[in-house]
Amino acid sequence: MATSQDVHNKHRVVQDRYRLCGQCGNFCSTSENQTYCMICGEKLMDECPRCKEPIVYPTARFCPACGILLVQVQNLP
Ligand SMILES: [Zn+2]
Ligand SMILES: [Zn+2]
Repeated sequence: MATSQDVHNKHRVVQDRYRLCGQCGNFCSTSENQTYCMICGEKLMDECPRCKEPIVYPTARFCPACGILLVQVQNLP
């Protein structure tokens, strides 16, 4: 029996790469010509600063390859 959970799991297969703002968590596709975050002005990263793994999960808070914190989210409870 298929559930909506199965659909969500397929979201993991993402070929696109993203630039991620380490300050506020904003992101954009690398196909967009953005170098700096349009929300807070921080320089966007397109790879993990430690292991150089490309950013393929734009909503990730931690690097899935090496586990370092990528996004300093300050508005968490
Ligand atoms: Zn930002
Ligand atoms: Zn990493």
